[in-house]
Formats: sequence, C-alpha cells, structure tokens
Amino acid sequence: MYVYLFEEGSTKLRSLLGGKGADLAEMTALGLPVPPGLTVTTEACNYYSSHNFNFPPGLEQEIMNKLRLVEAKVGRVFGDANNPLLVSVRSGAPISMPGMMDTVLNLGLNDTTVQGLIRQTDNERFAYDAYRRFIQMFGKVVMGVRGDEFESIIRRHKESLKVESDVQLDSNTLRTLTREFKELIKKRTGKDFPDNPQTQLRMAVAAVFQSWNGQRAKVYRQANKISDTLGTGVNIQTMVFGNMGADSATGVCFTRNPSTGERVFFGEYLINAQGEDVVAGIRTPKPIAELRSDLGDTYHELSHVCELLEEHFRDMQDIEFTIEKKKLYLLQTRSGKRSATAAIKIAVDMVSEKLLTKEQALIRISPSQIEQLVHRQVDPSSRARPIATGLPASPGAATGKVIFDTDQAHQLGSAGESVILVREETAPEDIHGMIAARGVLTSRGGMTSHAAVVARGMGKPAVVGCEQIKIDPASHVFITRKVTVTENDIITIDGTTGNVLLGEVPTIEPKLSQEAEKLLGWADEIRKLGVRANADTPEGAAKGRGFGADGIGLCRTERMFNAQDRLPIVQQMILSDSDAARASSLEKLKPLQKNDFKEIFRNMHDLPVTIRLLDLPLHEFLPKYEELVRDVAELRTRESNETLTSKERILRKVITLTEHNPMLGHRGCRLAISHPEIYEMQTRAIFEAAAELLKEDVKVRVEIMLPLVGEANEIRFLRERVASVADEVLTRLNAKVEYKIGTMIEVPRAALTADEIAKYADFFSFGTNDLTQATFAFSRDDAEAKFFKDYFDKQILASNPFEVLDRRGVGKLMRFAAEEGRKVNPYLKVGICGEHGGEPSSVEFCHEIGLDYVSCSPYRVPIARLVASQAVARGRVAQSQENK
Ligand code: ADP
Ligand code: MG
Ligand code: MG
Repeated sequence: MYVYLFEEGSTKLRSLLGGKGADLAEMTALGLPVPPGLTVTTEACNYYSSHNFNFPPGLEQEIMNKLRLVEAKVGRVFGDANNPLLVSVRSGAPISMPGMMDTVLNLGLNDTTVQGLIRQTDNERFAYDAYRRFIQMFGKVVMGVRGDEFESIIRRHKESLKVESDVQLDSNTLRTLTREFKELIKKRTGKDFPDNPQTQLRMAVAAVFQSWNGQRAKVYRQANKISDTLGTGVNIQTMVFGNMGADSATGVCFTRNPSTGERVFFGEYLINAQGEDVVAGIRTPKPIAELRSDLGDTYHELSHVCELLEEHFRDMQDIEFTIEKKKLYLLQTRSGKRSATAAIKIAVDMVSEKLLTKEQALIRISPSQIEQLVHRQVDPSSRARPIATGLPASPGAATGKVIFDTDQAHQLGSAGESVILVREETAPEDIHGMIAARGVLTSRGGMTSHAAVVARGMGKPAVVGCEQIKIDPASHVFITRKVTVTENDIITIDGTTGNVLLGEVPTIEPKLSQEAEKLLGWADEIRKLGVRANADTPEGAAKGRGFGADGIGLCRTERMFNAQDRLPIVQQMILSDSDAARASSLEKLKPLQKNDFKEIFRNMHDLPVTIRLLDLPLHEFLPKYEELVRDVAELRTRESNETLTSKERILRKVITLTEHNPMLGHRGCRLAISHPEIYEMQTRAIFEAAAELLKEDVKVRVEIMLPLVGEANEIRFLRERVASVADEVLTRLNAKVEYKIGTMIEVPRAALTADEIAKYADFFSFGTNDLTQATFAFSRDDAEAKFFKDYFDKQILASNPFEVLDRRGVGKLMRFAAEEGRKVNPYLKVGICGEHGGEPSSVEFCHEIGLDYVSCSPYRVPIARLVASQAVARGRVAQSQENK
C-alpha cells in the first residue's frame, strides 16, 4: 500500500508517512477538524528515486481510488465542472526539513472548474484569486518559472490601476492574470499549463518526489546528518479557505513562547488570507490575542484545541490553522523549534504540570542546549554579517581590539582593555596573552588545537582554523575576502557559530537559569557518574564548584612553576650545579606553591582535589634554543660581558636537555625518578597547605596523581617517597588529613599492566589525550595540521579521536585497565581527565564502562552532569514503557 487516508495513519507510522502526514493522521484520530486527505508514502518516493523517475506501478490509480473516498466525505468531486474538489499538495519528510518542495494550493482548478467554484461560493473575485494563485504557485514550484516574473506582471496591473495591494485587484483583473500567467509559463517552458486536474496532480506529486533529491534538500541533509534514504511523503489534502472574507483567516500559533518558554499562547494570524500569506510578509500579521475580539468563538475553540494537542503530544506544538467562515480547521501540528532557554523551561515546567517525568525531561534536552547557556551569546536578533567564518572552538561571544602580538595583548588586557588575540596559531608561550584577551582568533588549527583546548578550558570564546583570514604581521593587518582589518580595529568573534564580525555586536548575558539549575539537580539525583572539574587556579576551582562539580579531577601544577614570579627561581634550580643549590631553589618555590594550593583547597573544601605533580620536561622552563643562539651570537660581537657568560651557560643546559621527541622524553614520573626532590617539595607544599587549612576548619581531601607511569615499579618507588614525605609533614604539624595516591593512565603499557600498577594506586585517571596519541601513534598537532583532513574526506576516520573518544581502540584499553585494576584493588577509583571528559559521547562511554567520574573544564561540567544522567534516564524510560 502506497497511499494512506488520514484515518488510516498515526504517529507510529512517522517514517512511512513523514512527520506532517503522521501528525495530520493523529489529529484526525483525535477527532479534530482536519480537512480530509491522504498521504503518499516515503516508500513510493524511494521507489521513484531508484527507478529512473517512475512511479511504482498502480500508484496513480491508488491515489485516485483513495481520493474518491475523500470526495465522498466532503461532497465534492475532483475535476468536476459544477462542484469541484480542490486540494493542496504538500511534502513532508520523516524529519522536518526546510529545502523541500514548497506547497501547491488550490490544485484542481482550470477554466471550467473555476466556474464551479464561483457557483459554490458565490464569489467570483475569490475564485479567480484562488485560480491565479494556483497557476502562480504551480508555475513556480512544479514548472520552474521564476517567481518574480509572476510578481512583475501583478505589479504592472497594480500600477496601471493605481492600487497598493493584491486585495484591491478586482475579479476582471484577476481573470486577466490567469491568462497572462499561462502565457508566461508557455513562453518560459515551451509547455502548456496542464488544464487536466489529474495531470496537475501527477505532476505535483512527481515534483515533490524530485525535490527530495534537489540541491537544497541534499545540502540540508548533509549539514544535519540526515540519511538520504528516508524519502519524503506527499500529502494531498482538501483545500479550506481563509480568504473568503472578514470572517475567514489563516495563522500559525505556538502553545508556549518558543523563545522564552513561557506558558502563553503565542502566534500570529491574518484575516482574509490564504496559507503562505502569514510567512510571506506581504501583509503584517496580527498577534493571536487580537483574534479574541475579531472572532471570539473560534479563538476559544483554537486555544482549547492547542491545549489538547500539547497534552496529547506532551510537547510544545507549532500549529497551522485556517478559519473558513468562522469554522476552524487544523492544517499541521509539530513539535515547535525553540531556543535553549525555552527548551529547558518547557521541560521543567512540564514536569510540574505532570506532563513529563523527570527522566523524560532530562532526555529531551540536548548537551548543546546546555552548552549555549554557559557562554555569552551574540544577540540572535542582531543583523550583523560575518566577514569570515572559522571553527566554533569555544562558544560565546567576545568583542575587542585586534592585537597580533602576545605580549602586547597581555599588556593591554592586563590594563583593562578588551583585546582579541589574533594569531596564526597559539603555543604554550602565548598563554599570558590568551589569559589577558577576551577571545582568541586563529587562522590555523583544528577543534583541539592548542588555542581551542586552552580557550575552552578558560571558558573563553575562540574561533580557530579561520582560513578565510590571512594574517600579515609585518603590516599589522589581517585580510579577508571582503575587508582589511588593521591592528586596534574592533571585532567580535562568536565562538558558538565560528563567525567573525566587524565592530561591536550586541551580546546577551549567560547564566544558568533557575530552571536549568533545577533540571541539573534532577540529573545529579540519578546519575551514577561523578563529574569533576579540571582547574589549575582558585578561580577555576570556584567556577567548577559553581557549575556543580563534585571535586577537581585534574589540577595541573605547571602553572605554579612558570608564573612570572616563579620562572627565574625555576631556571636557577634547573641550572644548579650542586644538590645543595638545587635544594635551596626548591625551598624558595615551596611557600609560593603552598599558597596556590591553599587557595584552591579553600575553594574546594570538603570536596576531593586531584593534584598532578609536575609533568613537563625541564627544558620547557628555559628559553628557546634558537633565541639563545641568536642572543649569544649577538653578545659575542661586543666586549666580554656577564650576560654573555650567563646566556652561554643557559644555552649549554638547553643543549643537554634537548630531546629528539620531548613527548617520549625525560618528563613526568621519569624526571621525578631522577630528581625526587621536585615531587618532595610539591608534596610538602600540599600537606603544609592542608594542615594549615585544617586549623581554620577547612576540610581538605587530597589526591596526589603521578603522571606518565608505564611500569609498576615507577609508581611503587614514587609512592613510597611521596607518602613518607606526606606522613612526615602531617606528623610534624600534628594534622590528620585524608589523602590518596594514584596515577594517570596515559601510556598504553600502564593500561596493559593495570593489575600490577593497581597494587600501588588508590585511583586511576585516564589521560585520554596522551593515551590517544600513544595508542594511535599520532602526534596530535601533526595529525590535525597535516593529515586528518584527508582522513575525514576519505572516510578513514569518522571523527577526530582527540574530540570524540575512540571507543574501539583507546576505549578498549580503558575498559580493560579498569577491570584489571579493580580485580586487584576493589577500592580503586577510576576516572578520566582531559577534554574527552566533557564531550557527550565520550561521557556516555565512561558511564557504560562503569567509571567513577569524568573530569572536564568547568564550563563543560553542566554538560557532563546532563549526559551522565541521560544514560540512566533513557534506561528508566524504556523500562517504564515496557511495563505498560
Ligand atoms: P510548510 O512546510 O512550509 O509549512 P505546508 O505544507 O504546511 O508547508 O503549507 C504551506 C501553507 O499552506 C501553510 O500555511 C498551510 O497552512 C497552507 N495549507 C496547506 N494545505 C492547505 C489546505 N488544504 N487548505 C488551506 N491551506 C493549506
Ligand atoms: Mg506547514
Ligand atoms: Mg599527559
């Protein structure tokens, strides 16, 4: 069966009938006033696409047979000279899809049947208006004549009659229009306008089928990852007329406000108008509230129907209606599109209205809707046009002066100016500039490039990989196809869309609304997975806590070494010739680090804080080799001086520390095994901080994390050292502080020998960035800059494994390590830190393999809370459906 009457369908047949057809059927079943009609299935469309543009055998006959049943219901006959049935032909795919064919209204009219319509309605002007609209729409949509050609004929008549609007055209003129429109069609297409209604119908159905493979539809599907194999349904429906005078109207309404979510009846209508007039913007529609005074009884009926539909579908509805001589007809209902704010408010309100359970509300919200809430947004009502578009790396909007130089960005930004740091790409040495800037724009790099990751971590808007801009540092400008932007010019970047805009663009303030807090509170009630924040600073810690983190899952300590007041001491330490000299530098660092820890602990009181001891190789704290060589060469041209000697000394050290592959070099726990005194100093700072806070009644829960372990003896050795220093400090200060010692699992060998390592670890935390690099043997920066594009284009990889956790490879190692580790140590806590910990599909995977927590940047904490709960909620919803 390729054709279903509305009475024969239901929402269960959505993929067969398309969304519009299924919902029309559902409304019909509810007994609502839907003009009778039928739906041609998506299967017929697919047959047509795959059989060289031929209808399935018998399709036309099946349509005509079912149309006979519609005729009987409404008491009119398709193509009849006296009492003609007119229909609309509408497309409707299983997923609502702009880009499909426009609707054709009033199909079935010709020079003969129009006379019948005049007799039916006793209104010649109306009949000719319907007729000329039909020819116009059919000519444009089905026969491909440009719309403005019809419009210019209408304009000519209006000018010669000296009238302003279409409504003022008389029936004679309208009849002339039908003739001229047909002539235009003949001239442009070489074909006669089809007078036979059955031919009209066949052509219109074929045109809907064809529009499924039209360019617009294809592009939309690709962008929205909709399968090409769904096909579209075709709805053929009895016409009703909103253009039969002052007691007729057409309109669109929402059961709630789609931008705020407020529970108010919302919408617009036009008196004496047909279908598309409301959206076409020819006349300005009136707000729906005024319908109460225009057509009171119908208004009440409509608002009643809207309530009923919302309750039935348990979601906010977007409804099309037409009123023909005071009689209400419903032409469409669907879940209304809405802003993120509205989505959350509606879901939460519907729980208190008992339309939804908490679980249903939770799964209705998408992670990206939560994400939109935590960042400043470009005001959606602003009309500014982008000058370039890059990757939307870190959401939110930022406005400021274009600055190319990192130090200058740092200076201006610290002085309180709003700055956008614009660079080809960023590196660790640009951090100070990034911190001081409002946002970051780069012309190279991907979604996980340094700029992207760091900006996301800071919750700072970033647009990266914006290849449409060419930066010319020498002349202090960047160039797009359209404009040249000079240093100090003001731009706005929109990290939510990737747009770069000229000048200041109005933005709106983000915050977690009350409703969002409530929803996330429900998420916390049911989720099994802990959600922690990655934070290296007291501010970051506070932010994470504010967004509902259960603790800190990764506090990196590198910053405590390279902050400006520390770096000289750290360099001194590295350059020390003797153990004593090294110890004295470390002693100078300790009080500084202790204060850092105190502030972070204070902000996280009662919650666990995982501190990762120093991970970076030492040369990261020294000047770059190339710079030193240049300076030394220059200094040598002068008289002997002290600077030269010291620079030469540093250069020699840099040369000894140089590594072929720093990632695989002398860093992390390896460095600590050679120089345990660094970790010992950090441990003292941590526990002295904790002990001092204890005196202030601040409860601290310390977790010390050792980086880069790949062999059980590494952690055994370091654990002993760290624990003995910790115990020594705590005994000396007479303090009782709970602590754990664990390790990152970021080296494949650590995962493979998890059972051995777990003997010495209280917890594992998967460092999935390094683990992904090592498992694939990809260097992230090289992969993203050089070959990922080919990998995606040629479908070697479906997604970037640095963004979306690679379940089959890296994930397998994680699952294995967690299981093996817990076998040996049932109390082992297992988590993940790093960017994957806030990415929805990766969070879902962590839930699946039973991790204890994920840790991500503070701004992603609300997203992770939601996603962690959705896995549980989905299970419960499915369960309760089964029980029914
Ligand atoms: P869209 O997907 O663009 O909303 P529709 O198929 O819903 O397209 O129809 C476009 C316009 O035509 C809508 O305003 C709709 O209400 C109106 N319309 C469609 N079918 C009929 C009909 N049988 N009688 C009156 N108006 C109709
Ligand atoms: Mg519609
Ligand atoms: Mg690492």
